Amino acid sequence: MLQRLKYGLQRFMMGRNGSDTLGWVALVLGMVFVLLASVPRLAWMSGLAFLCLAYSIFRMYSRNVAKRREENLRFTGLFRRLKARLTDRQHRYFACPQCGQTVRVPRGKGMIKIRCPKCRTQFEKKS
Ligand SMILES: [Zn+2]
Repeated sequence: MLQRLKYGLQRFMMGRNGSDTLGWVALVLGMVFVLLASVPRLAWMSGLAFLCLAYSIFRMYSRNVAKRREENLRFTGLFRRLKARLTDRQHRYFACPQCGQTVRVPRGKGMIKIRCPKCRTQFEKKS
């Protein structure tokens, strides 16, 4: 009986996205909002909780695996870059004033001229 249930579930999930990092983050965020919404003044957060949980479920059962995988990759990439920026003590990060490209320069060199590798615009920043 349990075996048949397991088999049925496996067959149901075939060709669907299943759980991934973005789905998990949405799920955990949704549960945090559920807890916060139990505080009377924060009851409005139940709406956010619903959105997060619905999004997580949507991702899990989605059949458009390629699209979901691309979203997940974009999300994990963003997260990795953010983490690198927050933990990197050897470099400073600036956005190019012309094109917005992120430029990484060594820290502690005083005022320096930076040339954007993408659009070649030069700008000065204190590193
Ligand atoms: Zn630029």
